[in-house]
Amino acid sequence: MARIDLDHIRHAYGANPKSEKDYALREVHHTFRDGGAYALLGPSGCGKTTLLNIISGLLRPSHGRLLFDGKDVTGLSTQLRNIAQVFQFPVIYDTMTVYDNLAFPLRNRGVPEPDVDRKVREIIRMIDLESWTSRRARGLTADQKQKISLGRGLVRSDVNAILFDEPLTVIDPHMKWVLRSQLKQLHRRFGYTMVYVTHDQTEALTFADQVVVMYDGGIVQIGTPAELFERPKHTFVGYFIGSPGMNVLPVKIDGRTARLGAETIALPGRPETAEGVIELGIRPEYVRLGREGMAMSVSKVEDVGRHKVVRASLEGHPIAAIVGEDEEIPAEPKLSFDPAGINLYADSWRVDFDRSDRGA
Ligand code: ADP
Ligand code: MG
Repeated sequence: MARIDLDHIRHAYGANPKSEKDYALREVHHTFRDGGAYALLGPSGCGKTTLLNIISGLLRPSHGRLLFDGKDVTGLSTQLRNIAQVFQFPVIYDTMTVYDNLAFPLRNRGVPEPDVDRKVREIIRMIDLESWTSRRARGLTADQKQKISLGRGLVRSDVNAILFDEPLTVIDPHMKWVLRSQLKQLHRRFGYTMVYVTHDQTEALTFADQVVVMYDGGIVQIGTPAELFERPKHTFVGYFIGSPGMNVLPVKIDGRTARLGAETIALPGRPETAEGVIELGIRPEYVRLGREGMAMSVSKVEDVGRHKVVRASLEGHPIAAIVGEDEEIPAEPKLSFDPAGINLYADSWRVDFDRSDRGA
């Protein structure tokens, strides 16, 4: 397995890119640690597949270099990069049996037959196709075929990295969960460098140690699930992760306080900048309902099982709060913000607070 350096990578599909808009991938300059489990998370069209195909060598970037363990592989084919890639839809040999499909990548590399057999049987068990071992792939269902594809990606242990591009799209929900847990276990056991593309936050947050959030052709934040939750670097990360996402409210700054219409909100410190469009971000988990605080009106209460989501209006802005399943909502509730959950943004990017008392 290898460390992967993305060195000032940019990509435009068209021949003569003129402006930033012409780039499917704006500047990406990052390192994927050897043995790390990464998820590339973002909405459709943000550049996830483009980045993955650049790592695998299916696509040559228009600018920048790609290094595996310090060695420049930008000009090397997928084959020479020694990468396994699993795509969204099955890529298998229809006329071969399930067994031979899985054995193929190993035999191709001259792996001795007893080792092929051991490894293939282990993978067949994992993808739950034991009773289909000698069947030709042609007659199988789409999700069985995709399981073979997944297995083909996992069968070799000598690869530099395993890349997955939304591999569970056609798999039924229960099996999705099973396969995702198995991928995670495999990662723990063998320490593969894995990069997993998905637009589904649950998938990303359960699979990865590090989640790479992409937006509009760029990486906006790389962090652990906890970091993305507590300290979203960009308002997009706040919206995109969480259910419901972070509340973002336009405010004006006055020393250590933020003004939202007629209300005043104490900040955890003096913001390091107050230039640009200033917004306060607070996740619904940190919005409290009680008898003291800011005036609000409740528009809807959604019972989502383990908790309730209260939809309300605060100074004319929609706001969501999460309250416990058994928590009473007072007749005329007031809102307050837990200071631990307050983030501030200038032109959508997070601003730090100076927490020393001088600013008081
Ligand atoms: P994602 O995988 O996040 O959905 P993609 O990497 O597939 O996003 O696409 C990023 C952008 O590049 C999109 O605007 C898409 O339309 C464009 N794009 C993707 N593939 C091609 C291609 N082969 N030719 C031209 N444009 C492409
Ligand atoms: Mg894609």
